[in-house]
Amino acid sequence: CPEQAINYDIKKEQFTTNMESCSDCKKCIDVCLEGSRIFWGYTATADEIFKEVQKDSIFYYHSGGGVTISGGEPFLQKNFVRELLKKCVFQGVNTAIETCGHVLWENIKFVLPFVDTLFYDLKHMETNRHKKITGVGNGLILENLKKIDAGPQNFPIIVRIPVIPTVNDEDGNIRDLGEFCRNLKKLKEIQLLPYHRFGIETYRKLSMPYDLETLCSPEKEKMEYKAALLQDMGLTVKVGG
Ligand code: SF4
Repeated sequence: CPEQAINYDIKKEQFTTNMESCSDCKKCIDVCLEGSRIFWGYTATADEIFKEVQKDSIFYYHSGGGVTISGGEPFLQKNFVRELLKKCVFQGVNTAIETCGHVLWENIKFVLPFVDTLFYDLKHMETNRHKKITGVGNGLILENLKKIDAGPQNFPIIVRIPVIPTVNDEDGNIRDLGEFCRNLKKLKEIQLLPYHRFGIETYRKLSMPYDLETLCSPEKEKMEYKAALLQDMGLTVKVGG
C-alpha cells in the first residue's frame, strides 16, 4: 500500500485498513493473491441504472411494485436521484425513497415531485440524546419532515423507528415520537424496526469500529409492547419493515 494504510492487528489477528489514509488506488486488490480484498460499488449514470430498472418492468407492472432508493443518504445525490426517479415516473414505475432527513431542505424539495412514497427515519425526540447517539441533533430532521408534510405533494409518509435496546427504546421516547407523528397529515403508518446485528460483518470488512456489538435484538414481545404504546395513541403501526 503506497499510503501505508494496511496494518496487521496483532490482537485481532487480522489485517485492518485505515480508511482515512486510503486513497482508493485499488493497488492492493490487484496484488491480493487470495482475492480477499474487493472493491464495493461502482459509478453509474441515471441512464445506466434506469436500463437495469427496465429489465424488471414487467414485474412492476403486474405487482404494482417499483424502485426504492435508500442509502447512505439518497438526497445527498440530488441530481442523480431526481433524474432516475423522473425516468421511473414517466415510465409508470412506482418510486420510493428512504431518508434519514438530515439534509438540506433544498435537496429534498428538488427531488420530491418524483416521489410516490417516502420512508423517513426517526430515532429520538430529545435533541441532546439524538446528538449523542447519531452525532447530530434532531432539529433539521424534524423541521424537514414538517415541511414535507405541509408541502403540495400528496404521497404517503411511512415513519421508520429503529428500536435499539438502551439507546432509544424508552417508553417516553416512543410516546414522544408517536406524539410528533400524530400531527403529520400524510402519515400512513409507523414501522418499528427491531435492532439487528447484520451490520457487524460489513463494519468488520471495512475495518470500522462497531459500537453496538454487545447489544442483542429486542424480543418479539417487547416489540409488540412498544407497538401497543403507539396503537393506544391511535396510530397505525407495523412491526418490521
Ligand atoms: S486502495 Fe489499497 S493500496 Fe490503495 S491506498 Fe487503499 S489500502 Fe492502500
